[in-house]
Amino acid sequence: MPDTHDKPPGFETLAVRAGQQRTAESEHSEPIFPTSSYVFESAAAAAARFAGDEPGNIYSRFTNPTVRTFEQRLAALEGGERCVATASGMAAIYATCAGLLQSGDHIVSSRSIFGSTTLLFNNYLGKFGIETTFVGQDDLAGWEQAIRPETRLLFLETPSNPLTEVADIAALAELAHANDCLLAVDNCFCTPALQQPLALGADIVIHSATKYLDGQGRCVGGAVVGREDVVGEGVYGFLRTCGPTMSPFNAWVFLKGLETLSIRMRAHCAAAQQLADWLQEQRGVSRVYYPGLESHPQHTLAARQQSGFGGIVAFEVEGGQAAAWKLIDATRICSITANLGDTKTTITHPATTTHGRLTPEQRDESGISDGLIRVAVGLETIDDICADLAHGL
Ligand SMILES: *Cc1c(COP(=O)(O)O)cnc(C)c1O
Repeated sequence: MPDTHDKPPGFETLAVRAGQQRTAESEHSEPIFPTSSYVFESAAAAAARFAGDEPGNIYSRFTNPTVRTFEQRLAALEGGERCVATASGMAAIYATCAGLLQSGDHIVSSRSIFGSTTLLFNNYLGKFGIETTFVGQDDLAGWEQAIRPETRLLFLETPSNPLTEVADIAALAELAHANDCLLAVDNCFCTPALQQPLALGADIVIHSATKYLDGQGRCVGGAVVGREDVVGEGVYGFLRTCGPTMSPFNAWVFLKGLETLSIRMRAHCAAAQQLADWLQEQRGVSRVYYPGLESHPQHTLAARQQSGFGGIVAFEVEGGQAAAWKLIDATRICSITANLGDTKTTITHPATTTHGRLTPEQRDESGISDGLIRVAVGLETIDDICADLAHGL
């Protein structure tokens, strides 16, 4: 922890300095340790390390100094005791479930989650006897009704993708704890710069570091943050044995990304708010989804729970898929890609890409219309992005 005399360090100080342990080379910037294993002073020292009697590095599947710096920095930013870095966001979700659950356990999950997470729950956890019930993100009674005696985990993302529905983390944490369950929150859209789920009562925070933690679309990675007895035992134990490990190079990119997280997130929020306000005024746009708009159904909750409204804006154009594709194809700056959390603005047609594997009925139920477009607002001049979108409207 950075030494700030007698007061606790602020968020930005932690983002720049937490987790760094300078080596004998006196380097200023954090080093990368691309080594698979470590050398012991003697056979007895090796035995003591392996037995866990002496702390220290053993093998980079589960101990690497660069990865540890990233883990300690993200843990400090989320206000968690322990962080485990993983090879991807999906590996973080899988490691959480495989490390903490067993056959016969049950998950209650929001229906509005990342598509691959739905497939992981249904196709892979289901295969090992872990069943999932999906409920509406903002339907508190529905969450309560879905809980069974064998339910162990409640899972959600807030704001959701792509419709930016906001879940009440404190209320769902209370519900989870009243039923002996853990609450896991995928904090990908907000990052700890805008929302700290652990402080609101969640037990586990999950990240796709691929998105805003990197922030420049370079590396794939993930992380799980929470208490030592949850993340340090179950999740770390799974990682150590099963091996979905983050590489030291990727950890270095992510830990440097954390240093600018706060200013980047604030710039993404300001630009997204401007875009959402502008879109509301445009003819041909029938609806805009952004938690920063007063018309958003959970605007008040978002204002209370988040310190910014995020960088993702979704909107519906009149004329269905043809109109949506025409708008997307008319852009020259926006990148047509499904990724998000990049300095470059990205534009996506969810109904035929990220949500294309759902049936038309499932899409209707999730509110993904054929005219819906998602924009992950980057850091370009926002007037240029508005002008780019105006071309196809
Ligand atoms: C991208 C994403 C994931 C999966 O992360 P990967 O790094 O692509 O494996 C999980 N949750 C959300 C909300 C995401 O956007």
